[in-house]
Amino acid sequence: MGLHRGVAPRIPRAASPTEIVTTLLSVIGAAPQPIGARAALTGLRQQGVTESESTINRRMRQLDAEGMTESVSGKGRVLTEKGKGFLALAAANRRLGSVLAHALDVRNLFDLLDWLVARRAIEREAARAAARHGNSEDIERLEREHHGGDPGHRRQAAGERLPGAEGLGFHRLLGRASRNRVLIALSDAVFDPQLNWLDELLDVIISAGGARERSAHEHEEMTAAIRAGDIDRAGDLAAAHIDRLIQAVEDFAASNRPAVVERLLALVKPSPDLPSA
Ligand SMILES: [Zn+2]
Repeated sequence: MGLHRGVAPRIPRAASPTEIVTTLLSVIGAAPQPIGARAALTGLRQQGVTESESTINRRMRQLDAEGMTESVSGKGRVLTEKGKGFLALAAANRRLGSVLAHALDVRNLFDLLDWLVARRAIEREAARAAARHGNSEDIERLEREHHGGDPGHRRQAAGERLPGAEGLGFHRLLGRASRNRVLIALSDAVFDPQLNWLDELLDVIISAGGARERSAHEHEEMTAAIRAGDIDRAGDLAAAHIDRLIQAVEDFAASNRPAVVERLLALVKPSPDLPSA
């Protein structure tokens, strides 16, 4: 049986301590029997880890000390339950990260619509949960987002061009206000800072439909329903708000030639080669 079945893909560059540890755990975990230091080193080399033998030996002792691995009667090391758990978590993180990154790579208006439909589901429940819990700190944060010294709100109400006027900041806070760990994680994923450019894209699209001014008002209505503890109304308003955005994107797609839409996306979307601002 191959020693390296199921181990992580080859590490191309100098590995970080976490990468070394994770790769080491995966090499030890993939071995059919307790694995000696020499065989583990060979396994790591085959995974592209180039650090010195003494560094790797130190990491192995560190894993023993942390209870991730243990020696079996002089034959070599095996993973403990803790080590297996850590490895499974690392694999899950990698898998989730790549699944989400792929799902959230918005390339055209169809992707944008998928993003909005997913948001409608997440935000309806987030608004309902926020109304149910009625945490005053969360509600004040939502109110501050569209009131109190925020010039964005007034300029938006006056119809002035303002990048990001739809206010993804408000929607991010709405996710947090749910106080539901899963909803917060999903909300944080769909509003990851690398997707900030969608705010600007939506702004252009909504302005083209002449409906941008309504957003601030709808955010206020949503917040008021949450403050009033009106669970159904808060959820319905959140869903209706996203429905309107979906309609605006559909109208925009229908009334513009595909080439115009593609050009707009190319103008707004940051290049993947550049660090996002
Ligand atoms: Zn909004």
